[in-house]
Amino acid sequence: MTTALTTREEQAARLDAADPLAPLRERFLLPGDVVYLDGNSLGPLPAAVPAALADVVSRQWGTDLIRSWNDNGWWEAPLRIGDAIGSLIGAAPGQTVAGDSTSVQLFTALSAAAALRPDRTLLVTDPGHFPTDRYLAQAVAERRALEVRRVPPADLAPFLAAEGARVAAVSYAPVDFRTGELYDMRALTDAAHRVGALVLWDLCHAAGALPLHLDTLGVDFAVGCGYKFLNGGPGAPGYLYVARRHHEAFETPLTGWNGHADPFGLSREYAPAPGIARARIGTPPILSLLALEAALTVFDGVDMADVRAKSLSLTAFFLDCAGELLAPLGFAPVTPSDPARRGSHVALRHPHARRLARGLADRGVIIDMRAPDILRFGVNALYTTHQDLFSAARRLLDVTREAPQGPPPPSSGPVT
Ligand SMILES: *Cc1c(COP(=O)(O)O)cnc(C)c1O
Repeated sequence: MTTALTTREEQAARLDAADPLAPLRERFLLPGDVVYLDGNSLGPLPAAVPAALADVVSRQWGTDLIRSWNDNGWWEAPLRIGDAIGSLIGAAPGQTVAGDSTSVQLFTALSAAAALRPDRTLLVTDPGHFPTDRYLAQAVAERRALEVRRVPPADLAPFLAAEGARVAAVSYAPVDFRTGELYDMRALTDAAHRVGALVLWDLCHAAGALPLHLDTLGVDFAVGCGYKFLNGGPGAPGYLYVARRHHEAFETPLTGWNGHADPFGLSREYAPAPGIARARIGTPPILSLLALEAALTVFDGVDMADVRAKSLSLTAFFLDCAGELLAPLGFAPVTPSDPARRGSHVALRHPHARRLARGLADRGVIIDMRAPDILRFGVNALYTTHQDLFSAARRLLDVTREAPQGPPPPSSGPVT
């Protein structure tokens, strides 16, 4: 075992020494005494954010006051930051708006998709989808007299062969938030389009982690959050992408005044703004938006293909460590070993997951667990090192060996 550990430790050092993205870690303010593998829940603080936020608060708000809506570009912020996110997800400018939470954007996108297919009665979503995605699909279905069908991505093709003509929209995530499995966005998008259905992708665990090509794939709608791989800070605004070809017909269910064609005209009736601006709702959260905008500068000059290559190297290394060092102690990988089917985190199953996650936290390794028995190790190629993952594996060995054995504790707690 000791030899295996030494070999892995040396391999990690070698891989890190040859890593062309290593200098990007300096774009983050990471505490020195922790190994942070939970950036897929809350990205760490980018070094550019504190000064940017201080300027927003002290100068823009404190001194320039209400003039900032014009003079400091506050009014355009949702569209400007939407475009910055667009450049990471393969969306040309003018199709992405930032400002409201993923949950709100899901409601908008699902409602708008249903309105674009008024003669169809089914809304398809993944039974393993993130809870808010499942709840909102149900909520939109009830308001629009649709029926939700829960179909795993692997079963979509046969389902559509039977029911495709009735499907208004398919709502999936490219990366399963629990298992880390990556689905074939192109194949699923094409399958839905072949039967005339629209496609909504939730990019929460994909944007900023791997290259995305919304325009090229002909995706209809996408949503995502700002605080995971985009590192925008706790509760950072989410975003909505609507393909340009839908802008004319796009009906937002939340007709707030910011999305009005003439927001300062104070007219009695709602008239939608042209383009993606109609997806604006109310006054946007400027402090959070501008923190997110500063955070996105960590991607300046970064090629997402390089990010993907390193992310795969990191997750492959950790899966190798898990197979060699941890499998004998009862850990079972859930994440596919096939790189084409792997997102940017590794999930391991263990009956004592909750206690082990706590034990790791006590040793400075921050990961998360998803009930009842999944340990999630998130990697972000911009700052995670192979040596971080080696430390995590070694400390997990220690914690598991020290932990008193016994029946697993009853599972409860959040599943977010
Ligand atoms: C994180 C996550 C969300 C979060 O939605 P919020 O409205 O920001 O709470 C939604 N969907 C998926 C797939 C997620 O991973």
